[in-house]
Amino acid sequence: MANLTSEQDIQKVARALYQKAARQKPALFDAQDLLGRMIDWSLDDESLRVALFRFVDVLPSLESSSEIGRHLEEYFARVDHALSGLAILAHALHAGTLVAPIVRRNVVNLARRFIAEESGSHLPSVLSSLRQEPAAFTIDVVGEATVSDGEAAAMQQRYLELMCRLTAASAKWPDCPQIDDSPNGKIPRVSLSVKLSSLCARFDPLDPNTEAVVRQRLRELLRQAAQLGAAVTVDMEQNSFRELTLEIFRAVLTEDEFRDQPDAAIALQAYLIDSAQDVSALIRWARGRRRRIGVRLVKGAYWDSEIAWAKQKSWPIPVFLDKAATDANYERLSRMLLEAHDVIDTAFGSHNLRSLAHAIVAAKEIGVPINGYEMQMLYGMAEPVRQAIIQNGQRLRVYLPAGELLPGISYLIRRLMENTSNTSFLRQTYAEKKAVESLIKAPAPALAAVQADDEAGGRQRFRNQALIDFSRLDNRQRFAATLQEVRGEWQRQRRRGSSGSWLESVNPANPGEVVGRVRPASIAEADKAIDKAALFFPEWRATSAADRAEILLQAAAIMRQRRWQLAATELFEVGKGWREADADVCEAIDYLDYYAHEMLRLAPARETQQLPNETNSYFYEPRGLAAVIAPWNFPLAILTGMTAAALATGNCVLMKPAEQAPIMGAQLLEVLQSAGLPEGACQLLQGGGDIGAHLVRSPRIHMIAFTGSRQVGLEILREAYTHRPGQTHVKRVVCEMGGKNGVVVDNDADLDEAVVHVVDSAFGYQGQKCSAASRVILLPEVHDRFLSRLVDAVGSLKVGPPENPANAIGPVIDAEALERIAGYVQLGKQQAKCVVELTAPQSGYFIGPTIFRDVDPKSRLAQEEIFGPVLAVLKAEDFDQALAIANDSEFALTGGVFSRSPAHIDQARREFRVGNLYINRGITGAVVERQPFGGLKLSGIGSKAGGPDYLLQFVEPRTVSENTSRHGFLPAERNRK
Ligand code: NAD
Repeated sequence: MANLTSEQDIQKVARALYQKAARQKPALFDAQDLLGRMIDWSLDDESLRVALFRFVDVLPSLESSSEIGRHLEEYFARVDHALSGLAILAHALHAGTLVAPIVRRNVVNLARRFIAEESGSHLPSVLSSLRQEPAAFTIDVVGEATVSDGEAAAMQQRYLELMCRLTAASAKWPDCPQIDDSPNGKIPRVSLSVKLSSLCARFDPLDPNTEAVVRQRLRELLRQAAQLGAAVTVDMEQNSFRELTLEIFRAVLTEDEFRDQPDAAIALQAYLIDSAQDVSALIRWARGRRRRIGVRLVKGAYWDSEIAWAKQKSWPIPVFLDKAATDANYERLSRMLLEAHDVIDTAFGSHNLRSLAHAIVAAKEIGVPINGYEMQMLYGMAEPVRQAIIQNGQRLRVYLPAGELLPGISYLIRRLMENTSNTSFLRQTYAEKKAVESLIKAPAPALAAVQADDEAGGRQRFRNQALIDFSRLDNRQRFAATLQEVRGEWQRQRRRGSSGSWLESVNPANPGEVVGRVRPASIAEADKAIDKAALFFPEWRATSAADRAEILLQAAAIMRQRRWQLAATELFEVGKGWREADADVCEAIDYLDYYAHEMLRLAPARETQQLPNETNSYFYEPRGLAAVIAPWNFPLAILTGMTAAALATGNCVLMKPAEQAPIMGAQLLEVLQSAGLPEGACQLLQGGGDIGAHLVRSPRIHMIAFTGSRQVGLEILREAYTHRPGQTHVKRVVCEMGGKNGVVVDNDADLDEAVVHVVDSAFGYQGQKCSAASRVILLPEVHDRFLSRLVDAVGSLKVGPPENPANAIGPVIDAEALERIAGYVQLGKQQAKCVVELTAPQSGYFIGPTIFRDVDPKSRLAQEEIFGPVLAVLKAEDFDQALAIANDSEFALTGGVFSRSPAHIDQARREFRVGNLYINRGITGAVVERQPFGGLKLSGIGSKAGGPDYLLQFVEPRTVSENTSRHGFLPAERNRK
């Protein structure tokens, strides 16, 4: 749609607004106190900016003055800033007790400029002074993130109470036409902005509970708003919540009860590339129902994070990268919305005078009266701009966060970051004092950047396979359909049965259901397979690395096509949830791809040194016959990883999947053969430990790649290093074993994050990951608060068959595992205090998540790998002791730390000696190439899977030296670089 709005008029309006607004500085850039000054300096010093915002972020969690002093020192000692104010501060740093109260007071004062205190008289006094300006308001309730049902219910209660309180107060406010009237009558004076994620334990579009619970809580809010004559705006959060947020908003408003009441609005973000579609859909919907709704058009507050999240998941970036493109889109959407003024009340949420001037001119051209739309601005951010708009006779609404000042800080940080970023209009206007012409010129997006050209010519570089985005309805529907299809398929196959002995694979959520069956290999068959491999090996070794890599890349491509079926099958075979099953398939694809690329890197022979009379070439050869023995818990990824590494390097593989997951093994073989892998290169031997043990002992096997339990791993090492008659080599063993992984939660940790990540790391896939968190070690100041939030969060989880994504916790793998885990739970009840034990369905191998507190670090509960949904909570006096407890284990696979102390983070890097340490994030889900994976101590002796040294374990290096001189005659000097 062409933008018809007159540029000349926009310039005129923008200039007039600018004249008014430029006279005065917003409080944010008006440095009166220490922090104000620091914000000022931080504008041109990125390291100071980071330190400052991180410090403000951690401050609310610091209990004592000495802690505040220590953090100040840790954050600001690293900043090289020459300004004298800092020098004074730095001098005072060593006297934390003196400085701490001043700092805290400063931050509280700063917070008070942006957040109204919900309790007491602050909020009412802010509201009445706003109304005198006159400015309307909408209240955003700030606080901790919601991580449990209890917290969600409490949040809803806060909204309800606030609505009542303010409605009562509003009766006394004098009428003010500029903010109370619209062409359609009076506007509610009380307005609330609600984040849907605050209304349920965990806002997850994949979980059908989310929609049900949020709808119900929103319905109750809307009902009360209708009764009281208040308005509700649904805020928009990250893009992954957008589709469901819109869906819930529309669905609830479609209900008869809410046909006309209350006044309801939703926020839409112009930085999203797809936002125009949402705007048109919403307009169509409103017209279809003849229902007025409000839209708050904003640019969007999660820009940096959206880019970071998308990159991390290998998803397309959902936002415009170019600020001007967002600004241009904002203008385009402004017009679309204004043109729909028959059903849409638009609120323009922006501090950018150019964007606002555009809206004013467009409204006029379209014929929307001045009170037929409004402007919205954040409290405390842009007072002069706000005054200019008010003086222009417009309706202005202030978005006012209310809550406790210090817990509201995370809100504050986001706003500060946003409004002090380089592209912020406020910063450019007031801090950089850019010329008015450049501030108000029409946004001119750069032409779309040309796609990265590393695909042109040559092979693509390795890229991680993107996970399925389950926040999208179409993907959820497709996976649900695939589950049906796959189930139908194995039921058909079962009817076609024949006699003989079979190895059956059952659905652990419903053991009566046979997912598939395979022929187990006998010892004689295993020997035949070894013969065949030995015969084929010379040919496979002679096949070029490029040809072998090509087959693996082809296999990756086939797996990509079959990813839906593979993930669905895995869900049934081993009881993984949707996301977990998909992630396993993606990891398998990554291994095929990555090791193919790695082999291409390693293949060329290297000249060790350049000499005139001699060549010295160093190159790798395969070892020979590789036995690959895999566990069931990542039944596709780990089997594929070890197999792909062996094949890429030119070994012939005897592939032995776990007996609990034979179907995934069979499917892998099918993929490899469809990709053109010769039969002799990889043979599948189904069966249990006896087949594995036979391979390990065979004198004709050259290497063993094993992943599994410590007990079996150690036995394999013993057996493999025993020389046997007829054996002409020493075997090589790659052996990845168990873990007993600890997560330390420091006194200053961000509990919103720590709780969520500990829940995921401990209970994801029922705790049956080698990387799972099985111990959390808590420092005194967070102990009680963390534990109670953790217990509530876990209490909100549902246990049941994973085909229903409402169930966060599925079954454990088999009856034996169930019994073993139940044994540990019994033991735990004798040795420690059980604080959570969720009930689980009786049929199927289910066991509810269980948490023990006050666990003795030396007890079996704290030392042995349980491999189930059981978490031990331990106490430490201080950070040193916490690390000592974390390291006090025979295992050393993964570990985690939640801390906002730079010194503690450094210390953990050095002293928390595990294979994979994760700081301020979950401790599972290592990604190929990004986080090469594997443990130390009794967790393993291999070099990390998915890392640059992994393939070296599958090859033997050789060196060939040739004298190239003949009686003093030397060949012409070769190219030297
Ligand atoms: P497991 O040790 O019982 O079995 C692993 C494989 O070894 C299976 O294929 C099994 O048939 C085979 N096997 C059993 N006995 C054997 C023997 N005597 N000789 C040769 N092979 C034999 O392990 P599991 O229950 O399948 O897997 C869970 C374990 O794996 C946990 O301890 C977990 O921590 C570990 N694990 C480690 C990693 C890692 O990367 N470090 C990854 C996943 C799982």
